[in-house]
Amino acid sequence: MQPKNVSEDRRADLERRLAEVRGRISAACAAAGRDPSEVSLLAVTKTIPAADVAVLIDLGLDAFGENRAQEAAAKAGEIIVLRPAAVPRWHFVGNLQRNKARVVVPWVTRLETVDSVRLADAVDAATRRSHDEGLRAKPVLPVLIQYSVDGDPARGGVPDDALLELASHVAGLPGLELQGLLAVAPLGSDPEEAFAAIAAAAARLRAEHPAATELSAGMSGDMDVAIRHGSTVVRVGTALVGERAITSR
Ligand SMILES: *Cc1c(COP(=O)(O)O)cnc(C)c1O
Repeated sequence: MQPKNVSEDRRADLERRLAEVRGRISAACAAAGRDPSEVSLLAVTKTIPAADVAVLIDLGLDAFGENRAQEAAAKAGEIIVLRPAAVPRWHFVGNLQRNKARVVVPWVTRLETVDSVRLADAVDAATRRSHDEGLRAKPVLPVLIQYSVDGDPARGGVPDDALLELASHVAGLPGLELQGLLAVAPLGSDPEEAFAAIAAAAARLRAEHPAATELSAGMSGDMDVAIRHGSTVVRVGTALVGERAITSR
């Protein structure tokens, strides 16, 4: 399937949105007394076509977040054709089923949603096997632990009382490199309180795992608050690419 060309209108729309998002990140950093280089932008490109991702690459972005294994694998493949010289980084930010680990590990740069020992074990095994089979260049996969602020199992994430145990387990696996934490402020929660709790969890993680410095926190609606609470990666979808189709997640 040949991806469609992106219209001039869409290109201009993406350019304008990217400038706005960058402006928000700089303003939030300035307000928090942080250097903007401490906060990186992960463009969440789930449901948008590879041709749009190619335009974002032309506009200077190099890190993309996806949440469905098959869709993302296909898109990563299309980008190799559309922009052969680009070296995009693909971050998986969705709920990953253990039996899909093998679909993701060949091309993913970082898996941000490890939330159980069983998932960690499956991804560790898949990473090493994928490397042995020549499908994945690096034998180690960088990961973040997904932290659940409210402990609601339905939304994914490890609850507070199991965070450090999971972290030690992940740190002991040869195929995984623990780089930090991802969290989402629960719907309807006070973002100030949620991101303060997330920052506290990230600090506890860092106290035991000093190399786990990344905090993936903040989306279109709350990146400003997240940056004030120490986010190092904001995951931005809607503000950057527009509303997703109603049927999509
Ligand atoms: C979709 C998604 C985002 C982006 O959300 P927006 O509100 O569209 O910016 C960020 N993180 C995760 C895990 C997502 O699934």
